[in-house]
Amino acid sequence: MAGENEGPAIGIDLGTTYSCVAVWQKDRAVIIPNEQGNRITSSYVSFTETERLVGDAAMDIVALNPANTVFDTKRLIGRRFSDPLVQSDKKLWPFKVICGANDKPMISVNYKGEEKLFAAEQISSMVLAKMKEIAEAFLGCNVKNAVITVPAYFNDSQRRATKDAGTLSGLNVLRIIAEPTAAAIAYGLDKMSSGSEEKNVLIFDLGGGTFDVSLLTMVKSTSKVKSTAGDTHLGGEDFDNRVVNYLVQAFETRHKKDIRDNPRALRRLWTAWERAKRNLSFMAQTNIGMDCLYQGIDFEYKLTREKFEELNLELFEKCIGHVEKCLKDGKMDKKSVHDVVLVGGSTRIPKVQQLLQDFFNGKQLCKSIHPDEAVAYGAAVQAAILTGQDNHEIRDLIWWDVTPLSLGISVNENEMRVVVPKNTTIPTKKEDAAFTNPDHKTGITFMVYEGERPRASDNIQLGEFVLSGIPSALRGVLKFNVCFEIDANGILTVSAEDKTSGKTNSITISNVKGMLSSKDEIERMLEEAERFELEDSEHKKSFNARKALEKYVYGTRNIVVTKVQAGNLEDEIKKAIKWLEEHRDGESEVFENKTKELKSFWDPILKNF
Ligand code: ADP
Ligand code: MG
Repeated sequence: MAGENEGPAIGIDLGTTYSCVAVWQKDRAVIIPNEQGNRITSSYVSFTETERLVGDAAMDIVALNPANTVFDTKRLIGRRFSDPLVQSDKKLWPFKVICGANDKPMISVNYKGEEKLFAAEQISSMVLAKMKEIAEAFLGCNVKNAVITVPAYFNDSQRRATKDAGTLSGLNVLRIIAEPTAAAIAYGLDKMSSGSEEKNVLIFDLGGGTFDVSLLTMVKSTSKVKSTAGDTHLGGEDFDNRVVNYLVQAFETRHKKDIRDNPRALRRLWTAWERAKRNLSFMAQTNIGMDCLYQGIDFEYKLTREKFEELNLELFEKCIGHVEKCLKDGKMDKKSVHDVVLVGGSTRIPKVQQLLQDFFNGKQLCKSIHPDEAVAYGAAVQAAILTGQDNHEIRDLIWWDVTPLSLGISVNENEMRVVVPKNTTIPTKKEDAAFTNPDHKTGITFMVYEGERPRASDNIQLGEFVLSGIPSALRGVLKFNVCFEIDANGILTVSAEDKTSGKTNSITISNVKGMLSSKDEIERMLEEAERFELEDSEHKKSFNARKALEKYVYGTRNIVVTKVQAGNLEDEIKKAIKWLEEHRDGESEVFENKTKELKSFWDPILKNF
């Protein structure tokens, strides 16, 4: 629950070009307009001689102040300066990016007459603070908690930097969620309110800077990302760059002058085109008219939708290629997709819609959710749920991410020890401290499995890691703690710690909720678990009986080795260990009887130690 005076929790879609904020109110998510009445706000920050402007006000003066107006920080966040993407993007930006300490890219601007350096998360924090302010003005109270979205492909470092940006802006980041997941929530509230049959949904998100396509399988209570594809450099800005280049050439042909040496003129042309582009979504032709574009020369140009499409057809087709790849990765035939959901401002481009519809053999595309607002909408729903502000019905409507199969670990023996049971809601963190060492091993292999069967080898192995450098000790003396942590994005980290030496090691396995097992595989495993239930429960019983015997024998051995006068018990123990080695399998009674037999003989002797 949100604390007192923290106000309602908000959802923020922190976009490359535009951001959007929403809040849950009276059983629905409400998109909050900014002070100019716009429902989306430019992700721009402009530094001037006298002030700092954020949002639409910054975008409005970009042409006047190109070198000190920063945008596209989402492309920089969590990346290194030497990243090839940063190197190529840097060339296109009118603002300066330099290499800071530890290869961190730093944005250099002139602010109030001084050179200032900002990290990407600082700029993003200014945009987030603006979104917080917009929400506070609308709600008339403080806002503290927020869910922020990031692209599905963002790695740990990018997610962490986005979270840092949230903290810097004064927000408490409840959770970072993937944009397609948020869009799926919005879609789901709209579409799935009745019925509970399974649906395959393709989220096609073409925004300003990036293209993200995700294939999800949705049922009433669960959603699974089956596959994702896309391009970190494919979106409205790329279409705009092609058109602006074309317009620059047109100017050059007409006036024999190259405007490229004047960033301000270039930026004005860019902005004029970006606005005109929107007309082409419903008109066949648009007019770009500018006074004194360059050296006092006016520029007017009529651009047809056809020309726009011709200049960008290759990029539009690239999008379809990614859709194809996403389906292939998700092993899904296009006929099996129930709905294709359009998200992102650039999905308004008629040619994009047409190519997509053709690819799906004429299928109607789902336009019922707002392409600019769906992500913030879903984030607001998630925020309301996390703070308990929602009504209970929406919990039934939205899809919690759950672990489809149990996750567990095997050490030494072929035993599957379940740490995270099947259908656990993620994110989750679970620990198990019941592991001990074999005799004198200084390295122990931990194997991670997914599945329901008690024998580890009957399950799917996800990975393994070795905890090395642990002290040599007798079996059962050292204790290990194993921790499974699945974050909201389905990243599983398994770590093990030797409690005595404090040594730790871990392994990270990506996307547990999405891609570890295909749906067929999950079904097969669940079916097998059912079929072998009886056999498995007998196996488990005898395994546990053997384990109890083993514990008793080795426990006694560990006591006896410290005693000088152990008498013939030492020989008895050796015999028992040999017996254990010879009896790996067997009925539970065999082990239970053996334990009884040894106890009756050993316990009286042990009492005297
Ligand atoms: P992001 O999430 O990447 O910040 P958005 O989803 O808000 O981006 O989309 C912004 C992009 O959509 C911009 O490039 C903008 O020019 C483009 N856009 C918005 N409306 C239209 C339209 N009607 N036709 C074509 N492009 C549009
Ligand atoms: Mg977006």
